[in-house]
Amino acid sequence: MNKKFFIRTYGCQMNVNDSELVSAILADSGFEKVENIEKADIVLFNSCTVRQHAEDRVIGRITQEGGRKDSDNLPVIGLLGCVAQRIGDKLLKNIDALDFAVGTDQYRKLPALIKEVLQKKKRATLVEQDNKEVYGDIKPLRRQGPNAFVTIMRGCNNFCTYCVVPYVRGRERSRELDKILEEIEIAGQNGFKDVTLLGQNVNSYHYKNQKFADLLNKAADIKTIKRLRFVTSHPKDLSCKVIDTMASKKKICKSIHLPLQSGSDKILDKMNRKYDFSHYRKLIRKLRSAMPQIAITTDVMVGFPGETESDFMYTQHALDSIRFDYSFTFKYSPRKGTKAANFKNQVEEDVRLQRLQKLIDLQNSITHEKYKEKIGDVATVYVEQVSKKDENELSGRTEDNKIAVFPGDKELIGSFVNIKITGATGWTLLGKKIA
Ligand code: SF4
Repeated sequence: MNKKFFIRTYGCQMNVNDSELVSAILADSGFEKVENIEKADIVLFNSCTVRQHAEDRVIGRITQEGGRKDSDNLPVIGLLGCVAQRIGDKLLKNIDALDFAVGTDQYRKLPALIKEVLQKKKRATLVEQDNKEVYGDIKPLRRQGPNAFVTIMRGCNNFCTYCVVPYVRGRERSRELDKILEEIEIAGQNGFKDVTLLGQNVNSYHYKNQKFADLLNKAADIKTIKRLRFVTSHPKDLSCKVIDTMASKKKICKSIHLPLQSGSDKILDKMNRKYDFSHYRKLIRKLRSAMPQIAITTDVMVGFPGETESDFMYTQHALDSIRFDYSFTFKYSPRKGTKAANFKNQVEEDVRLQRLQKLIDLQNSITHEKYKEKIGDVATVYVEQVSKKDENELSGRTEDNKIAVFPGDKELIGSFVNIKITGATGWTLLGKKIA
């Protein structure tokens, strides 16, 4: 009988897509994917290591799952992804329930490793880095839903001083352009009409002499899809050519996630972000001048080492003046092995928390105002699912990446529907279907 595996994913969209690649690799080797953890012989956790909280959470889940092991040691439990890459060896020594840990470049070896773990009851880690691996030939086994993620590059060369990604995902490398286009085309044929291109820094994509704008141009001409998005952009690499391509191609959604991190030039420099606030502001002006309707979201961090009250005020001013549609706000979390973890003047936890709360309050009020400004507009919604709160309502995403909810029949899932926006609550637009 085929052994069954279950995979739980934590963290970013890259992790979601990695889990789809792992699922494809295992399914190709005869393992069967199940959606119920209790039916699985193999339980995999694919987790993120960007913040300590994420690591703690997955360690808790492994320990909890270990309580279900039977006398045959089933289910066997494996840890994948950035946490496995960073501290897999250590966790294998310290957590009895964990059977193996496999880093981000070793997923092709998973089937053989799992067979060995099952037969010989051995425990192992595979965390060697391979700076050429892009899994370009693997067709992801996608999760259900109308949106597809397509990874265009892996790794990162930027070494922001607070970030572990370059250490756990290795150096930047891009996938073959034709393979990416083929994957998008197939995703569209399979019903995924909304495709998001993924990479830690998509703007530095390059394959031979093709850059990100070339990829966008070609991807936007693929007939099987209707919407194209991308994430994440780095302000130092976002070019005028990409902005012009976004503006000129109807299928490219008029929304962008552009992490600012701080409004203070001193802190941006200490973060090694390689741009200043004035450069960032210019990009925002260019984006809004090319696409007046564009939605802009960002990441902002508070409490980075050395952040004074006046540095923090620059960040508040940045949010106030730019008026992002939404900001993902974080408090700095020191990560072992990064430069910033050794910086002297670390900010006290209570100060970090206070600043975080102030930014959240500020952004919430801006987001609320921006959403209210949409009332009366017509928006096209790609319907994703029945609303979690009301079975007579549907939810989906607008072109500018906002969640919209409206009354409708579930047969509309997977289609594009025009709605008139009638209200806004928190981060959700409310609407009514129009002809
Ligand atoms: S650009 Fe900076 S924050 Fe983003 S993944 Fe690379 S090092 Fe980390």
